[in-house]
This record gives sequence, structure tokens and C-alpha cells, in this order.
Amino acid sequence: MGLDAAVLTDVLDGGYADIRAKIREQLRDSASVLDDAETMTRAEFRERVREVLVETAATGMPGLGFPVEYGGGNSVGGSIAAFETLAYGDLSVLVKFGVQFGLFGGAILQLGTKRHHDAYIADIVAGRLLGCFAMTEHGHGSNVAALSTVATYDAEAGEFIITTTRDDAYKDYIGNAAQHGELAVVFAQLVVGGESHGVHAFVVPIRVDGQPAAGVRIEDDGPKMGLNGVDNGRLWFDGVRVPREAMLNRFADVTPDGTYESAIENANRRFFTMLGTLIQGRVSVGGAGVSASKVALAIAIRYALRRRQFETGQEGDGESEQLLLDYGQHQRRLLPLLARTYALTFAQEVLVDQLDAVFSGQTTDDHARRELESRAAGTKALATWHATRTIQECREACGGAGYLAVNRFAALKADTDVFTTFEGDNTVLLQLVAKGLLTAYSTEFEDMDQLQMVRFVANMALETVVEQTGVRKVVERVRHLIPNQNDGEPDLRDPGYHLDLLRWREEHMLASVARRLKSGIDAGEAPGAVFSRVQDHLVATAHAHVEALVLSAFIAKVDSLPASEERQALVLLRDLYALSTIEADRAWFMEHGRLSSVRSKLVTAEVNRLCREIRPIARTLVDAFAIPEELLRARDLLGE
Ligand SMILES: Cc1cc2nc3c(=O)[nH]c(=O)nc-3n(C[C@H](O)[C@H](O)[C@H](O)COP(=O)(O)OP(=O)(O)OC[C@H]3O[C@@H](n4cnc5c(N)ncnc54)[C@H](O)[C@@H]3O)c2cc1C
Repeated sequence: MGLDAAVLTDVLDGGYADIRAKIREQLRDSASVLDDAETMTRAEFRERVREVLVETAATGMPGLGFPVEYGGGNSVGGSIAAFETLAYGDLSVLVKFGVQFGLFGGAILQLGTKRHHDAYIADIVAGRLLGCFAMTEHGHGSNVAALSTVATYDAEAGEFIITTTRDDAYKDYIGNAAQHGELAVVFAQLVVGGESHGVHAFVVPIRVDGQPAAGVRIEDDGPKMGLNGVDNGRLWFDGVRVPREAMLNRFADVTPDGTYESAIENANRRFFTMLGTLIQGRVSVGGAGVSASKVALAIAIRYALRRRQFETGQEGDGESEQLLLDYGQHQRRLLPLLARTYALTFAQEVLVDQLDAVFSGQTTDDHARRELESRAAGTKALATWHATRTIQECREACGGAGYLAVNRFAALKADTDVFTTFEGDNTVLLQLVAKGLLTAYSTEFEDMDQLQMVRFVANMALETVVEQTGVRKVVERVRHLIPNQNDGEPDLRDPGYHLDLLRWREEHMLASVARRLKSGIDAGEAPGAVFSRVQDHLVATAHAHVEALVLSAFIAKVDSLPASEERQALVLLRDLYALSTIEADRAWFMEHGRLSSVRSKLVTAEVNRLCREIRPIARTLVDAFAIPEELLRARDLLGE
């Protein structure tokens, strides 16, 4: 029978195969946009991208995540599947979609109430009303709580006055701002009766008949490293008045006479609750990173199956020079990245299912919501870093040909680079993950900032930290991992062993980071200084946590499949992901006595063996991504 790419595609596509199939069709039809990105001027290309957005909006696909009554499809999971598939194509188109439907539309849907939904959503879904999500300021990006745009309530007029209060408080990098946006969801500090209530969101007209609205100044951000089909820009507000109803009031409101009301008393918690409703964009970008990695790998692996360099004197297929993918080093470069791409696909699937459950109201548990937010942050960070690394490696693996724009790497590199920054800077996101781990996602700690978290951990008895992280249980469980403590070493291809190792690393790191925080505070150091000193440790802990989550998702996926060639192929990829991850951190495992030096070398040998076993099925494994040929576009490179 042999390995069947179509069967693997079904496994990869998961529950949204129909939606993905439709998007693949649309991508085939609009594939010429890839050429346009290279041949058009920036101004022309922006218009072209807008055209594609409006045309695609007419098909209903981009609105999938919105309620049916406004022309949507009521499926958050479906909308993310659509977005992930769109990421096989031009990424300016993708990001313009993300800004319009995910950020702008998503903010109105999630933070607004019926009056806002009735007023805007149908037009947004249909692509008739384009808008912006104006959160970031030049002075503050990651630290959103410190924004300096202010919305002051004027009770007499029943209006908010939106003002850019400082030189660096203008909104910056805002998608759709430079040219196409008519409205913006503006995040600003709300001031009522002289009292500040923290950051809230307001719908503000920024452009009327193509011209900046009164009191609004707009500047173009100009050429960017990539994504030049998206019109990013800057916004200044000089006392712009909007009606009281312009405040997106799902979580808080101001009465006409100027009384501030919110069901969530704590300002920090209110703010994090608001932000929590916006994680769909983060989940989408992570998924897009995985898709972009698939495009790069499909091209590089297919190239490596055509390109020959050097005679090696090996018995082979009768050709004098050897195929690149028959070189051990070439396998080493590409196949662990392929395995990690599969792993992240399944981790992303778990995340999307959880997101869908929470957003559809199926899961209402607060703890589950916080875990979801953490998983979204961690998966986005790992998936987008993976994209940057994979695309670079694949470019190099195609030699000079990889450098030609026609072969897609130029755009892939330039356009995906910023995925590590927007929708939350990856390093900052991993700190969020670490905070969740240290506070065990408890409600009472939701509203803590970093310094409060340090104090909290420091004030816990060490016993509690150890108890909370469950480290003791793990130590018991993994006693068998310690070399020379039992007779037989675990099988190197045992997924349970792999997962134990990764979990042990995570939990050991977590307990030791908690100890370090505590001992710093106990010694009288300032919380900020302690935090800064252990920050790399915190980030590494979060990283370790997410790698373990990704492996669990892969193991669960394989376990769910019936015995077949496809399952067997996934077993090889799963083991390669696990062992190459362990290998990458083998110094740490050796330092902590979990791998002997002999065992560490065996891990490396096993990674090499797995690469050789995967080599014959590598083509099928990338064909399974089902990327339309028109998008691979590698006429020269692949000669196919
Ligand atoms: C092309 C593009 C499109 C965008 N679109 C939008 C949009 O439509 N709407 C919108 O609101 N925003 C948008 N953004 C803004 C984007 O979300 C921010 O750039 C991002 O959140 C990072 O903020 P920053 O640029 O201020 O970086 P900073 O927060 O200043 O970070 C700079 C560096 O410092 C590090 N750093 C920051 N804080 C810490 C810390 N506590 N500890 C350790 N290291 C730290 C970060 O890791 C990073 O490497 C866009 C940006 C770009 C480039």
C-alpha cells in the first residue's frame, strides 16, 4: 500500500477539513498576488491586497468567527483554520485579514455589546467597513497598561474626549491606519470625574471620505522589512469627541451622569479579562507561523530530492552525483524541523479546540480560561520562533536558488519575521507563561503584576512551592531516568520516557526558579532586582513547559490513530521531535544528572537513525501539507 499523503492530510487538517479545502481553492484562484507583491509599487500592492480582502470577504470565509446574524459562521475554530490555511499564500493578504477580522472586528465583538455589534459587525464581515486596532503606542508596546492616550468623560456633553497626551503617545504600527481604515478601536486610559480607571477601548472615526477625521492626524509608517501590502501607520488624537456609546462596554461602562460601573472591581483583573478575550489573534499568528514553516519545508525538501551535488561513489540510482537529501547533514538540517512542524501542528490543534470550547461557552471554568491564555502565549512564541528558524534553514538548504524572490523565501523571511513581535513579543509572552506556572493559574493571582508575583512566590513557604509545582511527585516518577539507578535503561524510543524527561526538566526548573525568587527576597533584595536576575531562568522554564505540552499533544494524536502506515510515519516524527528536543538541551540534562555522557551520545545517534528512516518518506510528509502547487511556485527551483 505505502504511505498515503491524502490520509496524512486528513490527520493534519483535523476537524476543519472542508474549510481548509475551500481556502486552498481560493488561494489557487488568487495565486497571482504572489507575483504582484514583487512587481507592483507599494501603493499599487496595498490596493491589490485590499481588493483580495474585499473579494474574499464576499465568500463569507473570513467572517467565520462572527455570529450568524451578522453574516458570520459562529465558529472560532473554523476561522482560525481558515487563517492558518491562508498563510500558505501571500502574507500581506493574511495580515490584512488579521487586522480587519481578527483585531478590529474581534475587538468590537469581544469588548463591545449589542449596540456596537448591530452598528458594525455586518459591515466588517462583508468588508464594507475597514478599521484598525489601535493599541500600541510609540512609547509603549509590551507594557500596554502604561498607555498614555487618554479618554476623558465630559458629562455635560455626554462625550469622551480622546487625546494623545505625550510626544511618544501616538499610536504606532497600526494596520489599516495609513490608508484604508475608517474607524479605529482606540485603547486609552479612561478618566471620569478626574479619576483614572485604567485602559478601555473606544470606537473612534479616523477617516471620513478618505480624509483624516477632524482632530485626527495620520502618518504612514513607510516601507517595512516585509508585509508591504499592509498600510501600517501612526495616529494622533487632538481632543477628538466621540459619543458616550462609543465606549466598548462589555466589561465596564460610564453612565450619562458620569458614574463608572463595572462588574469586575479590580482594575488589573478587569484589564486582563479584556485582554484575555482578544487572544484569538495570538492563536492565529502562531498557526500562521506553522503554515509558513510548512511552505518553506515543502520547497526545501522537494528541492533536496532533485538537486545533486558531488560524487560520493555510493551505490545508488545510477546518477553520478548524490541527491542533497541523501546527505546525512542535509537530513539533519531539515528533518528535525519537519518533525517539530508536525508537533506544533498538533499542539496548535489542541489549543484551537480549547479556544473554541471557551469562546463558544462550552467551557466556563476560570482556571481553564487562564490555562488557555497561557497555552496560547507559549504556543505562539514557540511556533513563530520556529518559523523564523525553519525558513532561514530552508533558504540556505536551497543554496543560491533559495535567494531568488521567485522561490518564495525572500517574502517568507521578510513577512514572517515580525510574527515573533506582534500579537505579543515572544520573550514577554513566555514571562506570562512562567507567571501562570508559578501561581498555578489561580484566580486570586490573576491580577498580579510581575513584582507582586515575585513577592507572592517569595512569601510562600518553600514547602508550598515544591508542593505546588508537584516536583516531588515527579522526582519519584523519574527515578528510573537517573543513570545507574536501575538495571535496564529505558528504551530510547519510548514516548513515556521522552515525556518524563521533558516534564522533569520543566518541573525542576520551576521549583528552582521559585527557590531563587524566595531566597532573593528573603535576603532583602528589591523584588525588581530579584526578578531581573532570575528572568532568563523564568523564560527557560516557560520554554521547557511549552515543549512538554507540544510533545503531549503529539503523543495523544498518535495514540488516537488506528494502526497504519500513516500512524507509523507519525511515530517516527514524534520520536524525532522528542529526541531532537532532548538533544538540543543535553548539556542541561547532563548537568542535572538525567543523561549520562554515554546516553547523551546514544540520543544523538538515535536522532541520526530517525532521520535516515524518515528520508524515504520525506516527500510524502511534505505533500501531506497539501499546499497548492501554484503557491509553491517553484518552477525554476523544482523544475516540476
Ligand atoms: C508590522 C507591525 C504591525 C503591527 N500592527 C499593530 C496593530 O495593528 N495594532 C497594534 O496595536 N499594534 C501593532 N503592532 C505593534 C506590536 O504589537 C508591538 O510592536 C509589540 O507589541 C511590541 O511592542 P514594542 O514594539 O513596543 O516593543 P517593546 O515592548 O519595546 O520590546 C522591545 C524588546 O524589549 C524586550 N522587552 C520588553 N519588555 C521586556 C521585559 N519586561 N523583560 C525583558 N525584555 C523585555 C522585548 O522582548 C523586545 O525584544 C504592530 C507592529 C508591527 C511591527
